[in-house]
Amino acid sequence: ARGISIRDVSHTYGARTGGMLALDGIDLDIGDGEFHCLLGPSGCGKSTLLYLIGGFIPVQAGTISTSSGTVVAPGPDRSIVFQNFALFPWKTVKDNVLYGLKKAGVAGAERERRAQRYIDMVHLTGFEDAYPSQLSGGMQQRAAIARTLAVDPGILLMDEPFGALDAQTRRVMQEELRAIWRDSRKTVVFVTHDVQEAVFLADRISIMSARPGRIQHVINVDLPKD
Ligand code: ADP
Ligand code: ADP
Repeated sequence: ARGISIRDVSHTYGARTGGMLALDGIDLDIGDGEFHCLLGPSGCGKSTLLYLIGGFIPVQAGTISTSSGTVVAPGPDRSIVFQNFALFPWKTVKDNVLYGLKKAGVAGAERERRAQRYIDMVHLTGFEDAYPSQLSGGMQQRAAIARTLAVDPGILLMDEPFGALDAQTRRVMQEELRAIWRDSRKTVVFVTHDVQEAVFLADRISIMSARPGRIQHVINVDLPKD
């Protein structure tokens, strides 16, 4: 399975200069195919926990593991979407998606097919040759999601991906993400400070608090959504 197991994970920033405990003893199991939200106020350690799962910052204390083993570095089983899109501005939509596939080692013809399939999936058909600056914020974020999904990671990590969008676009994107998730059944870890967003998207929500960052409750969301 492609679940995530987090055991007694703590994280201190600036340990050499006194230190700030950003996460304190996090224990959490996220199931295969689960849509999990990390919810809490700014500074409670949501991004830190997400980056630890991604392997982007080293685990100092405790362990994080996936079906691929203990997380020690970024890996092909995990892929991340940031708040600020992170598209290459000098590449077209299609070239942005192709770049991710090339980096993942996908061969030429298959690369083309996959890029088109995921561009279609996020409803950017017809915008393959557009540059990011020619697209709205919502479209740019759809392109970023296509680039991330195209490499077919088992685990999708999302750091407030819709935070910069207006309310209406945000709602459309939430519905689309939920539909993509329903079709792909990836394990998703989604960071947000928006309660409504978490309840709309998630199967389970970890509610976090700050100073130090802890998980206070993990709740099941039983609202019918699909
Ligand atoms: P959230 O995503 O919930 O807003 P973060 O994980 O970004 O929380 O941050 C948790 C705490 O760690 C905050 O107090 C933040 O200021 C601090 N922090 C985050 N990144 C760093 C860093 N690179 N260096 C020092 N402190 C950091
Ligand atoms: P968010 O609210 O989305 O977590 P922030 O604005 O808190 O984002 O942080 C943006 C970036 O700055 C992150 O890369 C984070 O690691 C870093 N950062 C946050 N707090 C600190 C801090 N106190 N010292 C150094 N870097 C920090």
